[in-house]
Amino acid sequence: MVIKIFNTLSRQDEELTTLELEHLKMYVCGPTVYDRPHLGNARSVVVYDLFYRFFKRVYKQVTYVRNITDVDDKINDAAKARQISINELTCEIIGFFHADMDALNILRPTHEPKATEHIQEMIIMIGELIKNGHAYVSEGHVLFDVKSYKDYGALSRRSVDEMISGSRIEIASYKKDPLDFVLWKPADNEDDLSSIFESPWGKGRPGWHIECSAMSSKYLGANFDIHGGGADLQFPHHENEIAQSCCSAKGSRYARFWIHNGFLTVNGEKMSKSLKNFITVYDLLQQNINGIAIRYLLLSTHYRKPFDYNKKALDDAQKSIEKFYAVFDENDLLQYRMQTSSSLDSSALMLDILSFLAEDLNSAKVFALLHEKSKEIKLKPELKQQFIAALDFLGLIDDQFFTKSIKNSVDENYIIEQIELRSKAKELKDWALADKIRSNLLAQNIALEDIAAVDKSNIKTVKTIWKFL
Ligand SMILES: [Zn+2]
Repeated sequence: MVIKIFNTLSRQDEELTTLELEHLKMYVCGPTVYDRPHLGNARSVVVYDLFYRFFKRVYKQVTYVRNITDVDDKINDAAKARQISINELTCEIIGFFHADMDALNILRPTHEPKATEHIQEMIIMIGELIKNGHAYVSEGHVLFDVKSYKDYGALSRRSVDEMISGSRIEIASYKKDPLDFVLWKPADNEDDLSSIFESPWGKGRPGWHIECSAMSSKYLGANFDIHGGGADLQFPHHENEIAQSCCSAKGSRYARFWIHNGFLTVNGEKMSKSLKNFITVYDLLQQNINGIAIRYLLLSTHYRKPFDYNKKALDDAQKSIEKFYAVFDENDLLQYRMQTSSSLDSSALMLDILSFLAEDLNSAKVFALLHEKSKEIKLKPELKQQFIAALDFLGLIDDQFFTKSIKNSVDENYIIEQIELRSKAKELKDWALADKIRSNLLAQNIALEDIAAVDKSNIKTVKTIWKFL
């Protein structure tokens, strides 16, 4: 299968090839764990989850690494503000991150390395950079000498002037050049001991960029296939990663394909705490929005395009999933789960979906096809199993949401009518019919309960109540 991917390095669609036969290696920048993931974070995680699911279908082996940044100034600040230890904060937020992403049906990556567990690897890499003449020690810091790497800026295609003016480059006395970036910084006296590490350059902690270079090289090697992340990471983070990796291992080209997902805005505005439009995944889950609807929403726009969140789009996403779920029932789902053959993996529908994903992950086209098929199933019920398999592959099946949406589709008047029919059957002592009505409702997850009562005239009556199971 020919897979086309837009490579940020070349600014072109390119045919994806792997360095190792049938083994794709992908690294994606993961969360900095100081706060619960917001929708922008979730977009990135969902996009790479779909890439991962797709690659797993196409290649014999996929190694997917997504790191956890658990040493960072923002973490230190957040722990201080909450008066808890850094360790307590990062453990809590990692737990929240996993819980929120599980709700979006995100598969765990092959490796999820934490920065604090790879300090030695970073120290070795920094040592190599100093030895190779690409880094220098100054006032307790180790800095990367940007001028020593002639290809610096190739990914973001910015001139040196643009790089200095376009981002918040810190001008400091210990830097030879304003663009030089920190590889190791000295410890602050106020720092929590869990964020201070020993190094040949004194006690301190690593800069942010070096962790991705060190951890990707440990799990994927100096050269690998794909590096992904949000578009905001292109500069300086990814530019710095390339510089560090290519200069520490001679001959390394680092990642061959760079993928960047677009920004997320809320009602047309940048999401920020100061604008009070900051939305976390947890906020939405708390409002009884299902994670699958959030997943659908985040994938409904092509991953490279900017994505604008608004409530109507979320409601539409929820309705779309309900429409998909309305074309099959629990027995169909059960039948799908009991399947042992993999014939559904090569159904016409699945092949169409894979071919759309091979066009730079065109999820919008996949969803349009699913809507078309959901209408067709009414005429061709034999397509149901293919349809369920497709939803499952895309991570769009959630049992709880499925059961709830079936319940929503049951008409309450119908239940009341059935209860009345059953009462009449009992009056006529047609116990077989009464039992049949009861079991029919039970098959739709509706349980009846007869409650005996005595009315004002002391006459015994039976009231039937119903509930969803
Ligand atoms: Zn990174």
